[in-house]
Amino acid sequence: MLAGIVAVYRLWLHVNATTVALTLLMLVLFLAARFGLRYAVATSILATFLYNFYFLPPIGTLIINDPQNWLALFAFLATSVVGSRMSERAREEAEDARLRQRELEVLYGLSRELLQTENVAGLLNTIAPAIMLVTRAVSVVLYLLDGDRRYLAGDATSVFQDDISLRQLALTLPAPDSVGRESRVPLRVGVRPRGILILNGASLSTETLLAIGGLVSISIDRAQALEEVTRGEATKESERLRSLMIDSITHELRTPLTAIKASATTLLLPDVLSEEQRHDLLAVIDEESDRLNRLVSEAVEMAQLDAQEVHMTFSPAPVGELVERAVEASAITLAEHTLKLTVPALPPVLADTAFIEKVLVNLLENAAKYSAKGSPIFLSAERRGEQVAISIADRGVGIDASEQSLIFDRFYRAHVQSRQTSGTGMGLAISRAILEAHHGTLSVTSQVGEGSVFTFTLPVARHAG
Ligand code: ADP
Repeated sequence: MLAGIVAVYRLWLHVNATTVALTLLMLVLFLAARFGLRYAVATSILATFLYNFYFLPPIGTLIINDPQNWLALFAFLATSVVGSRMSERAREEAEDARLRQRELEVLYGLSRELLQTENVAGLLNTIAPAIMLVTRAVSVVLYLLDGDRRYLAGDATSVFQDDISLRQLALTLPAPDSVGRESRVPLRVGVRPRGILILNGASLSTETLLAIGGLVSISIDRAQALEEVTRGEATKESERLRSLMIDSITHELRTPLTAIKASATTLLLPDVLSEEQRHDLLAVIDEESDRLNRLVSEAVEMAQLDAQEVHMTFSPAPVGELVERAVEASAITLAEHTLKLTVPALPPVLADTAFIEKVLVNLLENAAKYSAKGSPIFLSAERRGEQVAISIADRGVGIDASEQSLIFDRFYRAHVQSRQTSGTGMGLAISRAILEAHHGTLSVTSQVGEGSVFTFTLPVARHAG
């Protein structure tokens, strides 16, 4: 480029010496900004000679006659060297800023990666690869003193084969330290050493390494704390459920037991009862033991559904057939109602027929139980996308809005009916659990005094037959 400038001004464009000097200066500054000080200084010295030789009279010699030209030459050299130094510094600063920005990006990326994972095992497995990814290191080793655990990412086989030296280093390293291409960062809990992080082939400042170490420690602490909270909550919830279940069972069992016991005690009294009274008491015992029996088997069934111990066989089942069998099974309960069926031709659903019949029977019996004798019950089915929805509607007592979500809880019975009709409060809880196992849903819409509609959905069987 120097030769080019000299040639152009010498051979084609005849301009004054100042223009030439300024052009050369531009070249020198450009070199300093682009390639650094060394090139700029070398070029400016060479340029000084060329300038003197070709443009300062007497031209063609390195001699200078006019002292003013000496000054010009010196000014050129000084300006180009000082200018170069300044543009070199600007370049360095820009480079520095870029590096710092990159490190900030690294930290930001890392914090995002590490704070996403909420369980400790998952987190520990992601730390090394995440650091490798964001710092562009060749390999990363994370070593934790607790349990002597080592997590590797990248080609880390060459680094620290034995845990003893890692352990030693983790226990003794006071601050981040770089040895060759390897950066070592101590990890701490408070002031206690927790482990060490080794990055291979990433050039990061000590501050960034320190920040990475802090970030890793914080994310491990956070995941541990979260896991403890979740575990605590789960235990509390299962405790709560268990005690609720025991409370309810004891309470529900006590009522029929008390009735049976009272009847039996009275029956044992000598000669005070008429034949009719004896018969009534025996009927109470008969009914109440039936109820007791139902209660116990439903509680067991619910517990099995909860523990997923129930085996279901899903196969394509025609909706019409399911409905027909359930209606037959509830014939006695439905005797005092008129049942109106609306079941169009539908694709078969994927279901365990025995369990779905149980759901249908339960909903039909509820509809009969919680509505006046003689009132109609409607059963309809329709397709909704990839689901079939089956609804059972009654014109009965209805359910208060505040209780509509509670009736699906085990043992819950709405206040009005619980005293008037017998029941266990388990039917809907069991039905919902069965439908959930089918990837279906069960919901209710109801208005007090108007009636209720229970709707459940089942997935359409994809490969019918
Ligand atoms: P159970 O009928 O044995 O009490 P369920 O779990 O089947 O238990 O029902 C829970 C409660 O939901 C019932 O006690 C009743 O209060 C309410 N319920 C269920 N079905 C109906 C319905 N069709 N109409 C009004 N209330 C209903």
